[in-house]
Amino acid sequence: MKGDFVQIGSYSYDEYLHVVKSFHGNLAPGLIVGGFIVDLALKNLPPGQYFDAICETSACLPDAVQLLTPCSIGNGWLKIVDMGRFAITLFEKEKGEGIRVYLDPRKLNAWPEFHAWYFKLKTKKEQNLDELMNEIKTAGADVLSMLRVKVKPEHMKKKNLGKTAQCPSCGESYPLSDGDACIACRGFSPYIEG
Ligand code: ZN
Repeated sequence: MKGDFVQIGSYSYDEYLHVVKSFHGNLAPGLIVGGFIVDLALKNLPPGQYFDAICETSACLPDAVQLLTPCSIGNGWLKIVDMGRFAITLFEKEKGEGIRVYLDPRKLNAWPEFHAWYFKLKTKKEQNLDELMNEIKTAGADVLSMLRVKVKPEHMKKKNLGKTAQCPSCGESYPLSDGDACIACRGFSPYIEG
């Protein structure tokens, strides 16, 4: 049976579930689908030595990229361009040639629970989680589609913070391009106190 030999990146399916649970906190279905998405992109990488990643949603998928590739938010090789689409692109750093992989609704008809989850047709309570997980695993890459893309130059550059200064109000370092004081001291701090 196909399900017995499922691999995600360099992990067996069960190893991947284990890694997801310890990194993400729970077995989010989106992160399992995300594993198949990243795996398919890795198998179809454009030529070149180094690649970066773009994630088109901030939910779940970035964690799949961080678990299965060297690209992370922290090292700057993974960027989120949040368009709310369940897709990632891996692209060659120099030329921007990339492969975009997405969950394709046209391929979901054979998988009712998976389809209902993707289009949020059921509440969490109505959802049959075991059946959903089973469909996700069995479907694997069959519900995904791929596109060759070329990334715009402005999305290929590494973000440069430029010069920094000491904020006259809080005394901490901040990017000088933000103005005379840091963003927090100009009223945009997320904290009520401190
Ligand atoms: Zn400040």
